[in-house]
Amino acid sequence: MTEAHAIRINETGGPDVLKWEPVEIRQPGAGEALVRQEAVGLNYIDTYHRSGLYPYPMPGTLGTEGAGIVEAVGEGVTRVKPGDRVAYVGGGTYTTHYTGRAATMMKLPDGVSCEQGAALALKGLTAWMLLFKVRPVEAGETALAWAPVGGVGSLLVPWAASLGLRVIGVTSTQDKADKALASGASDVIVGYDKVADEVMALTDGRGVDISYDSVGKSSQAASLASLAVRGWYISFGNASGNAAAVAPGQLAKIGSGVMVRPSLFHFLRDPGDIDRGAAAVFGALRVGTIKAEIGQRFALKDAADAHRAIESGKTVGATVMTV
Ligand code: NDP
Repeated sequence: MTEAHAIRINETGGPDVLKWEPVEIRQPGAGEALVRQEAVGLNYIDTYHRSGLYPYPMPGTLGTEGAGIVEAVGEGVTRVKPGDRVAYVGGGTYTTHYTGRAATMMKLPDGVSCEQGAALALKGLTAWMLLFKVRPVEAGETALAWAPVGGVGSLLVPWAASLGLRVIGVTSTQDKADKALASGASDVIVGYDKVADEVMALTDGRGVDISYDSVGKSSQAASLASLAVRGWYISFGNASGNAAAVAPGQLAKIGSGVMVRPSLFHFLRDPGDIDRGAAAVFGALRVGTIKAEIGQRFALKDAADAHRAIESGKTVGATVMTV
């Protein structure tokens, strides 16, 4: 077996705090499996853990998503066995050998590679959570999708469109807008300055039923101002920084608006949640509703470069780090 390595973090800061270091392989305990990883999915949340926007145990190993081949299982594990190809969400996945809870592992269907699994596990489940769990959508509704060709956005937009939603994207460049249109968005707003005005123009003054807002601080006001009466502001990310507090009275004023700040892990608490989510995600992949688009690849040891790339706002689709 090659020597195990991980991207370790001892202090918060910029990408340079990420260090590629030799580590001991931890044998799986009860309920755990040890996976020789092939690919690690990069998620924006990893940058929050690194920068200190969200607390993270230090010293530690970063990472929230990965895929590979099971090498060993601990006591009581029947869900997966050595040789299975699996993808998962979990803590500390920036490593060549991941030991984590078997309960969060999803077997990869034939024909789905580990790279695709690492691109889809967390981001696909997030799109599933948003469309089916947080606020089940209905055909004929209109949604605003921020960062429509990002890691989550590139899954959310075509999936929402396939369910009969009219999706209006908001993005930074014409190139990204063209991609969003090709993936199922009906309209795309380029630039962030006049989003609410443009939404109202596109919807005859009605507004959207839902704003899927992953941008946070800089998009919040436009999200709220773009809602139809009884619209939902689904604030699920902070790519531009933390969104501000919203007073209940403000939600009343915009028309009995609903605000929710979902976190995927709260939607994966019951046994069976992950299987239902995985069936939906891999089913949508199989029939071609979504694609596991890997826009960027890095070696895991170059995780700092991967972080710089996603923070530049220029990436499209998923970013995968290969082991
Ligand atoms: P993305 O690939 O979507 O990257 C972020 C995108 O945000 C950029 O490409 C850019 O798209 C847009 N953006 C706007 N302003 C900025 C800015 N100031 N800096 C950087 N990017 C900016 O990332 P992910 O798909 O990994 O994650 C998207 C968001 O969803 C993150 O905030 C993440 O934390 C959140 N998330 C939340 C989950 C949950 O459970 N709540 C689960 C998974 C993800 P454009 O150019 O199109 O504007």
